[in-house]
Amino acid sequence: MQSTNDLDQTHNPALRSWVESANDAECSFPIQNLPIAVLRRAGSGEQFRAGTAIGDSVLDLSAPCLLPQLSEAGRAAIRLTFASSLNDFMAAGRPAQRALRQDLSRILRHDFAEKDRISEALIAADEVEFNMPARIGDFSDFYCSIHHATNVGKLFRPENPILPNYRWLPVGYQGRTSSILLSGQSVARPCGQILSAESTNPIYAPCRRLDYEAELGVFVGSGNALGRPVPIDQVDDHLFGVCLLNDWSARDVQSWEYQPLGPFLAKSFATSISPWIVSFDALEPYRRPYRRPAEDPAPLPHLTSASDESRGAIDIKVSVHLLSAAMAARGLAPARLSLSSYADAYWTLSQVVAHQTSNGCNLQPGDLIGTGTISGPSRDSRGCLLELSEGGQSPVSLPSGETRVFLEDGDTVILSACCEADGRARIGFGECRVTIRKPE
Ligand code: MN
Repeated sequence: MQSTNDLDQTHNPALRSWVESANDAECSFPIQNLPIAVLRRAGSGEQFRAGTAIGDSVLDLSAPCLLPQLSEAGRAAIRLTFASSLNDFMAAGRPAQRALRQDLSRILRHDFAEKDRISEALIAADEVEFNMPARIGDFSDFYCSIHHATNVGKLFRPENPILPNYRWLPVGYQGRTSSILLSGQSVARPCGQILSAESTNPIYAPCRRLDYEAELGVFVGSGNALGRPVPIDQVDDHLFGVCLLNDWSARDVQSWEYQPLGPFLAKSFATSISPWIVSFDALEPYRRPYRRPAEDPAPLPHLTSASDESRGAIDIKVSVHLLSAAMAARGLAPARLSLSSYADAYWTLSQVVAHQTSNGCNLQPGDLIGTGTISGPSRDSRGCLLELSEGGQSPVSLPSGETRVFLEDGDTVILSACCEADGRARIGFGECRVTIRKPE
């Protein structure tokens, strides 16, 4: 089996690119990152196809000038990306991804002799428009942060915030794929059944407690056959990459509908994702040992792995910014509401996938897995307004003098993320930026 936990020359922090903007220390897309998206020149009506971000540009992977510069394995891999969705490339698994990464790293390096021949494959990043990266067959969303689960649990069950199953299995639910949207597409405030505290009967009305949830989305690469669970130590071979994910939530609808079968219409009206997918190869330098508190029960054997304990946490730092319509009108910058890290999660991605397939359920290329809201232990690391406002009790202040307990029409929520480590390049994820519009 291939080794998935080695750093190689593509991670070397000293690498520089002939695309000068990629060498800026603040750039999200240095040569060590190389995320993939589906895109075309904005307004061109061209076919959507795959591209890789490098500095402030995009390398058009369909450009014919690239093929002669690639290895045989790289050519086979890049041909799988000549499509308006990445499902075929995802299905080819980690070896194809790694072959393409090696070649792209080589041809984008500052000293690549043929750089003039391939520079025509560059498009300015602000001149592209994106498509959904994959045909997403299934979407499941988890609840990996015990800090989020505790903060939310306390609002409903102050004496008993964490239910007994939480420490034994990664709790999840089946989400909705038809309403997954790309960053930049606005979301209409949903309507739903709401039971107010003063009433015994619900009403049907626009949601009054509209919230975001800062999450990561994980795309499945090669799938598993029905009836064949993925062993925890083989999960890496089945995952393609990570994007930003905003799991919009109608809290008032949710609190009325969620028992006993979990979220339904409170979540299914919209989920937003960012266009760029960062590969697990790019994330390798930011993996960390994963530890759960000594007093907690050890996970069952099928959710336990020495390898996962040594590298299962991934330090992906997720920020949430909010820009109200009034702030935008005054030219104010978006205000940061939180900063958290997936390294603080209670469940690793390997445990999540080992659990989800443990009954034989098959995952397919392009399936999407949400981590659940990423919150940390501190107040400023709470990944949704329900937590930040303590259930609507303590308003959050904005630089405009406005306050928020939940989202207002015209609010723009911006998720971003980056990975940093000593002696390593800093890589970013781009943005998931969405504005809330009035109910329809
Ligand atoms: Mn969620």
